[in-house]
Order: sequence, then C-alpha cells, then structure tokens
Amino acid sequence: MIKSILIANRGEIAIRICRTAKRMGIKTYVIRTTKEPNAVYLDFADKVIDFPDTDGTVPEFLDIDNLVKLAVENKVQAMHPGYGYLSENADFAQKCTDAGIKFVGPPAKLIKDMGDKIIAKEIAARNGVPMLQGSEGSVKDVKEGVKIAKKIGYPVIIKAASGGGGRGMRIVHKQSEMEQMFHAASSEAQSAFGDPSVFIEKYLENPKHIEFQVVADAHGNVVHLGERECSVQRKHQKLLEEAPSSGLDAALRNKMARVAVKLAKGAGYESLGTVEFLLDKNKNFYFMEMNTRIQVEHPITEAITGLDLVELQLRIASGEKLPIRQSDVKLNGWAIECRINAEDVQANFTPSMGVIKQLRLPQGDNIRIDTGIVPGSEITPWFDSMIAKLIVHGKDRKQAIERMLSALERFHIKGVKTTIPFCKAVLHNAAFCSGDFDTSFIETKLESLV
Ligand code: ADP
Repeated sequence: MIKSILIANRGEIAIRICRTAKRMGIKTYVIRTTKEPNAVYLDFADKVIDFPDTDGTVPEFLDIDNLVKLAVENKVQAMHPGYGYLSENADFAQKCTDAGIKFVGPPAKLIKDMGDKIIAKEIAARNGVPMLQGSEGSVKDVKEGVKIAKKIGYPVIIKAASGGGGRGMRIVHKQSEMEQMFHAASSEAQSAFGDPSVFIEKYLENPKHIEFQVVADAHGNVVHLGERECSVQRKHQKLLEEAPSSGLDAALRNKMARVAVKLAKGAGYESLGTVEFLLDKNKNFYFMEMNTRIQVEHPITEAITGLDLVELQLRIASGEKLPIRQSDVKLNGWAIECRINAEDVQANFTPSMGVIKQLRLPQGDNIRIDTGIVPGSEITPWFDSMIAKLIVHGKDRKQAIERMLSALERFHIKGVKTTIPFCKAVLHNAAFCSGDFDTSFIETKLESLV
C-alpha cells in the first residue's frame, strides 16, 4: 500500500482525500499558496508544504514541474490530482511516473487518449459503444462543417476536441449560423485549451445526461457502480445530480452498464472512470465522453453503494486487486447532490465574491456536506465558485427530495449569494419531481430561477 500522497489540489476535494487517506494510514501532504494561506484544507493534512515563489504566470495547481519537484523533495510516494486542475493532464501523469511517483489515476497514455474527445470516440466506437452521427475526426474548416451538417441534418453541435467544463461548444441550428459558430467554438477552444481542433456531432434535442461510474484495477477486473443523472445543468455544467436516475429501468441500466464496462475493459482502463452518455426520449443512448478522474458528484454513488471511491482509487494505485466483484455491488436507496456555488443566479450565475460572514450547516444521519469553507473564508476570483456540496440519502427519490429540501432550509450562509434558492426551486418543480426533465430543464421547465 502507498504510504504517502501529495494532494495537488485544494478546497473540499483536498479535505475529502485527506479523510480517506488518514483512515487508511496514508500520510497526506498538501500545498499552501499565498492566495489562501489560512485555508481550511491545510488543517486536514499531516504536512503542509509551502509553494515556492514563482513569477506567478502558471497558477500553483497547474505548475507541473514545481508540483513534481515538491513531491520528490518530500519523498512522497504518490500524487493525487483530485478533479479539475491537472487531474486529466497526461503530461503531469507522465512526469510523476518519470520521477518515480505513482500518479493516482490511469496511465498517462489513457488520460491522453480519453482527454481527446475525438480519439475517445474512436476507442468507444471500436468497443461497440453506440455513437451519435458526426464527423470522422476533426473538422478543418467551415466548408467541411457545412458538408457534414448537411449529411447528418441540423441541429448539430461543434465541440472542442480537448474540451471540458462545457466550454468550446456551439450549437448550430441552420447553415447560415455555421461560419460564426465554427469560429466561435474553435477560438474558444484555442484560448481555453490551447488546441483549436473541433469536431461535429448530431445535436440531440433535450436528452438526459446519464453517466456510469466504473472502477478498474491493473489486473483487468472492471466493475460498475451504477449511474448518476446530471441533467440539471446551466451553460452545459452540472448543478444538481442524483443517483440512480429515474429515467432508467433495470433493463436499460444493465444494458448501459454493460456497454460502459465493455468500453473500460476494451480500452485497458485502470482506476476510477466515468463513462458519460446522452439518453434520448426513445431511450436510445450514445457515448459522449469518458472522464479519467474522481468526479465532483462521486458522493452520491458512495451514498447508494456504501463504498469509498477514494479508497478504491488508492488501493488500485497501490496495485491491489479490486476488493469487490460486480455481484457485491448493491444500489441502495436514492441520493441527491446540490452544488452550493457562490453565484448570483439571477445575474446569469456569475460568481459572487466576498467574505463568509455566517455559516450554519444542516446536520443529520442522512446528510453529508463536503466543503472547504468556514466563517471568515474569503471567496475570491482565484478559485472555483463551488463552495460546498450538500448530499442527502433517502430510501427512495421522494424521500431524498424531501430531505434535501429540509437540509437546504437549514443551510444558512451570509456574505455571498449562492445557488441555494435555485436548488430549492428545482426541487419544488413539478416536472423535476415527476422525473420529466432533461438537459433543457432550466430553460424550459423552470418558471423562475429562485
Ligand atoms: P464537457 O467535457 O465540456 O463537460 P461534454 O461533452 O461532457 O462536455 O458535454 C457537456 C454537456 O453538453 C452535456 O451534458 C450535454 O448537456 C451537452 N451536450 C454535449 N454534446 C451534446 C449533443 N451531441 N447533443 C446534445 N447535448 C449535448
């Protein structure tokens, strides 16, 4: 078993990783930056390392060379990237490996292949995963885009090959929009990801976003942990997730899970991974992408399986065989996660900065809160606007919704605007409660955002 890890991340996920690592007897190291020298996550680690002075051009948690150097200097055995930042950076994984540090995640080659949505789609197609119609590989210019769209029919979506976080995507409803949207997607891709390559696929009107959690060891064993539904989105980003999904019956769940496992096996996958699908009204599903890291929304899977995903990840990174077989995995009840973001919902979800003046959190047996803030914490533009994750568990969907509403009522935060009123509006919405919702929910079904 790995004996020490450096967590190349901050906030709630750094705390989350520390908790499990500590329980497993693994020594934890975290990084202190001058941007938040008193952050809460620093209290949870065994050792705090000060990030060296740099010219500041590369943010600390993106600074591959310095992070690897700090791990080596401190004789740390493994690097946990968390999510975001360098978690899906193949170069980082490779440099860790080259320095003799175990990267907690799949091998660099797999991160690279799955990180390129075009290559990922090729791998998925090769492994029999249902695919949306679209371009073969990248689309070089507007003319080619028009040709492909004619073939598959409008609407289409232009997506960045290296995309993530909902960026570098544009929907094209008719030919006259192609030129503008192509350039917009491509230049956004270049500025956000340093890679202007885009591809085109059929745009599904009002699909559900359904993703399967898979876990694979280095010995060829792959198990799935059921699905999560992440259809409540704004700007193609998730806001509220639940597990399981009310859109799937047992037969469809099994079918999609088999496909996800087959892909992981076929790709020679290792570690935690998420296979994302779009599900249409006729219950056809299509591959979207595979994420090669722990996801923000992993606690809802933990709630319904009773498993600790970080523990599984660390065991796999240590070379252990999966401690569970598929038949051991039982999905129990219903879990919902609300992302509590410091955002002004009515101003198009723009970040809301300030000092947390008051914080009173709901408590209860079926409530879990993953957060890195306390009263006095400052929400700055340096970091992500997500400040807490509220997770509840119930025996069924109805009870989970009720428990979440009650928990949100008791979640008091002063100093910044948050997505709490928005989450309440979602959970009170009749279409959401009946299960009749999809990725267009916020635009089409929610009369009022708060
Ligand atoms: P990212 O990696 O940036 O998160 P994804 O490929 O996961 O991008 O897509 C994010 C969201 O965009 C999806 O959950 C879905 O709402 C929407 N989306 C992506 N591709 C399509 C498509 N072909 N048709 C309809 N919606 C799509």
